[in-house]
Amino acid sequence: MTTASEIRASFLRYFERHGHRIVPSSSLVPHDDPTLLFTNAGMNQFKDLFLGKERREYRRAASAQKCMRVSGKHNDLDNVGPSLRHHTFFEMLGNFSFGDYFKEGAIDLAWQLLTAEWSLPPSKLVATIFGGEGGIPRDDEAHRFWRRFLPADQIVELGLADNFWAMGDTGPCGRCSEVHYFRGRDLPCPEPVCRGVACSCDRYVELWNNVFMEFDRQVDGRLNPLPAPSIDTGMGLERVSAVLQGTISNYDTDLFAPLLARIGEVSGLTYSPTPGWPSGQASDRSNPSPETNRTNTSMRVVADHARAMTFLIADGVVPSNEWRGYVLRKIMRRAMRHGMRLGLTDPFLYRLVDVLVGEMGPAYPELAANQEAVGRMIRSEEERFDAVLTGGLPRLEEAVERAASAQGVLPGEDAFRLYDTYGLPLDFVEDLASERHVSIDRAGFDHAMEAQRDKARAKSAFEGRKIQEFSFRSEDARQALSAAGDVFEGYATTVVRAVPILAAFDESCRQVEELREGASGYLALGRTPFYLEAGGQVSDTGEIRVETGAGRAAVDGVTRIAAGWPRVHRVRLVEGAVREGDLVTAEAGAALRDATRRSHTATHLLHAALRRVLGAHVRQAGSLVAPDRLRFDFVHFSPLTRDEINALERIVAEEIRRNTIVDTEERSIDEAIAAGATALFGEKYGERVRVVSVPGFSMELCGGTHCRATGDIGQFTVVSEGGIAAGVRRIEAITGADAVAASQAARAALDEVLGLLGTTADQARSAVDRLQADVKRLTRELSRMKVESARGQQGQIAPTVAETEIAGTTLVTQKATNLAKLELRQLADAHRDRIKSGVVVIASTTDERVSIVVSVSKDLTERIQAGEIVKQVAPMVGGSGGGRPDFAEAGGKDGSRVDEMLRETRQVVERLLSGAGGTGRQPPR
Ligand SMILES: [Zn+2]
Ligand SMILES: [Zn+2]
Repeated sequence: MTTASEIRASFLRYFERHGHRIVPSSSLVPHDDPTLLFTNAGMNQFKDLFLGKERREYRRAASAQKCMRVSGKHNDLDNVGPSLRHHTFFEMLGNFSFGDYFKEGAIDLAWQLLTAEWSLPPSKLVATIFGGEGGIPRDDEAHRFWRRFLPADQIVELGLADNFWAMGDTGPCGRCSEVHYFRGRDLPCPEPVCRGVACSCDRYVELWNNVFMEFDRQVDGRLNPLPAPSIDTGMGLERVSAVLQGTISNYDTDLFAPLLARIGEVSGLTYSPTPGWPSGQASDRSNPSPETNRTNTSMRVVADHARAMTFLIADGVVPSNEWRGYVLRKIMRRAMRHGMRLGLTDPFLYRLVDVLVGEMGPAYPELAANQEAVGRMIRSEEERFDAVLTGGLPRLEEAVERAASAQGVLPGEDAFRLYDTYGLPLDFVEDLASERHVSIDRAGFDHAMEAQRDKARAKSAFEGRKIQEFSFRSEDARQALSAAGDVFEGYATTVVRAVPILAAFDESCRQVEELREGASGYLALGRTPFYLEAGGQVSDTGEIRVETGAGRAAVDGVTRIAAGWPRVHRVRLVEGAVREGDLVTAEAGAALRDATRRSHTATHLLHAALRRVLGAHVRQAGSLVAPDRLRFDFVHFSPLTRDEINALERIVAEEIRRNTIVDTEERSIDEAIAAGATALFGEKYGERVRVVSVPGFSMELCGGTHCRATGDIGQFTVVSEGGIAAGVRRIEAITGADAVAASQAARAALDEVLGLLGTTADQARSAVDRLQADVKRLTRELSRMKVESARGQQGQIAPTVAETEIAGTTLVTQKATNLAKLELRQLADAHRDRIKSGVVVIASTTDERVSIVVSVSKDLTERIQAGEIVKQVAPMVGGSGGGRPDFAEAGGKDGSRVDEMLRETRQVVERLLSGAGGTGRQPPR
C-alpha cells in the first residue's frame, strides 16, 4: 500500500523533476486577505502572482497546501460526518504555472503522473472539459489535448456550473478540466439512472481539477484574453489516497485510520470501515445497523475536527468568540458534542494530538514544534466547555421550558444568545429542544448570527477602507492611482519633501480636487515617510504642508486603498487648502516616531527574552507597538511569577546596555528562515523579506521601524502581565522617558508610605509587621471586651439578655449590636457555659443586617435542634440559614424586626420542645 505521506512526497518530487519550485504550505490564516476566513485553496498564496501584482524568480510551482473549508461557497462543515469524503481540513496538492506552460503542458503533466508515476489504468480515467455555455465557446483545445490519451467516450463535456472558474465577479477566470476516476459499475447507485461523473454515487470520484486562467473578465462582462495565461490545479490528498489505497471512504485511508483507532481506544467503540471496493461486490455491502451508523458518523466528525483544530491552533488560531477563533471554537465544540454521543464525557480530544503529530509531523513541522501547546489549549477548551455546559444547560432548560409552554417555538434571538453568550452549539440546542417537541426559529437565529458576523467582519478588517469604498472621478483616475505604486521612505527619514499629491478624497472617500480649511479627508502621496499600521506597529501621525505655504494638514492616520497602491493619509486641514498636484512636505512626528521605534525594538527584545525565560514554546499571538507603550500577547499556560518578570526585565536591560546596532537587511525568505529568523504565524511574506536583528540576541522578519541601537531604548519596564484567553498571556511594558517617569512615580509612592510610617526602606518591612501585629492584638482585645460587655460582668447578666424557663429548659435570648460572627459565637458559648443546659438565641444587628446564632446544649439535642430553630426564626428578619443540631447560624436583612423575632423565638422553642415542631423535624443524628 502506498501511504498518504508517500503520495504527497511523490507528487512534489514529480513536479520538482519537471522544473517546479516546491513552495511550502502557507498558513491556514491568510494574513494578507481580511475577507478570507481561512486559506481554502492552493492558489491563495499565489493570488498576487496570478494577478500580475507580484513577480518571483520562478514561473512554475507546486505545493501541498493546508486548507479549511468551513464557510461561504465552500462550506463542508455540515457534510462532515455523514459523508465519506468531505472534510473541514484537508490537504490540496497543486501545480501552478504563472504564464509558463498552459493547457497542453498541464494535461501532459497530469496524465503522466496519474498513469506512469502512479500506475492508474488509463481505462479508468475520465476527463471533463468545458462544453460551451453562456456565450463562452467549447474548450476545443483541451479536448484535442485529451484526445491524445483518451478515447472520445472518456471525455465528458460539462457546463458553467462544473467547468468554469472565476476568482471574483471581475478579473482572472477560465475554463477547467477535471479528471475523474471510475471505480466500477458494481458499486450501488441510489439514483434511477446513474449520471456518471456528475452523479452523487461512489462510482466516480473527482480527483483533480485543472483551471486554465485565460480571461480577464471586465466590469461589463466582456472576457479579454489574459496576456499571460496561467495554470492553477488542485487535487485533494485524501481522495487520491483513497483511490490509490483502494478504499471508497477517505476515512479508511492511513490519513484517518490511526486517528479512528485512537478514538476507538478512548471510547471503547470500534469504527467499521466501509466495505465493498475494489474486491467486493455490491452484495457485500450489508446494511449496518442505525446504531453502527451513528457511531461511525460521530467518530468521523471527531477525527475530522481533531485534524482541523490541531492544524488551526498550530497556525496560531486561538478559540474565542470572534472571527477565526469563533469558527475554531465551533469546530471544537461540535467534536466534543459528538464525543459525548460516543460516551466520552471527560476531556479526550487532546489525547488525539500525539497521533496526528506522529502521522503528519514530518510533513508539517509546525505540528511537532507546537505539540505541547496545542494539546494544552485543546484540553483547556474541553474543560471550559464542561463549565459552559454547567452554566448554559440550566438556561437552555429554562428557555426550552418557556418555549414549550408558549407556541413550541424557541425564538431565534434566544437560541442565538444561548449559542453566542453561553457557548452552547446550535445543534446541541436543537437536540435538546426536539426532545421536548420544541422547534427553533432558524430564520431568527440566522438573522442574529448575520448581525454578529458583520460585527466581527468590521472588526477584523483594519486594512481600512477597501477599494470599492473609495470612489474616483473617472476610470482613468483610478487606473492612474493604482499604477503609481507605494513608496515608503520612512525607514530612512521622517521628512520627505517635494512630493506630489496624487489624489485627494473627502470625508466620505469621494475623489475631490481640493480640501479646504476645516475639512477632513484623505490624501494619496507619491512618496511618504508615514508608516502604515502593520505587524502591530501603529500608523504614524504628523503633518503635510504645501510647499508654497498655501495650506497645512494634520495627519492622524494612514490607510490603504488596496495592496500595492499609494497609501492614503487621513488628514484634517488646519489652514489654507491643498489641491491635487500640489507639491508638499510630508513630515511624520519625529518625537512620536522615536518613541515608536523604542517600543518596537523593545518588543523584539522582549520576545527573545520570553523564549529564554519561559521556553521555545512561546509564540507571539499579537502585538501592539505604540509610542507610549507596547503590548505583547503570547502563548503560555500559566501566569508569570515575579521572578520570571524580573528575569525578563534584567535580560532586556542587559541588551540595552550592550547598545548593539540594530541590523536590518533584505534577504530571501528561505535564507532568513534558515538563519533562524522568527517568522510570525499567519504573516504572509514575499520572496524578499526584511530581517531585523539585534545580532547575537534576536532576529525577526519585520517591516517596522526600529532604533539605531538598543541603547536608544534607554529603559524598559513591565507594567502588567495577565491572561487574555485560555493559554494566551499579555505583557504590557513601557520604555524611555515613560519608564523613567514610572519608576519615579513608584519611588514617590514608596517615599510617601515611608514618611507615614516614619521609617526607612530597609526598616519598612519590620515596621509594617509591627503595625499588623498591633492591629491584630487590638482587634482581639476589642473583640474580647465586646463579648464581655455583652455577656455581663461577674455573675450579673447584661440588661439586653432575657432568660426564661420553657418546659423545664432554660432559654436565653439576647439582642446585641455590632458583633462579628466570631464574637457572636463566643458570646453564645459564654451563655451556654453559664447555664450549662438550655437554648441560646442571639441576634446582632450591624447597620440593617442581622446575624443570628443558635446554640443548644448537647443534652437537649435529642429534643430540639439548633438548625430547626434557626430555620423557623430567620425568615422573620428576611433571612435563612441552618446548621448542626447543637449550633446554627443565619443572616437576615431586616434589622427592624429583631425584637419581634426574639419574642417569637419563645413560641418556636416551646412548640419544638413539646414535640409539635411542625415543619418537618429531623430525627436526631
Ligand atoms: Zn450514480
Ligand atoms: Zn517587529
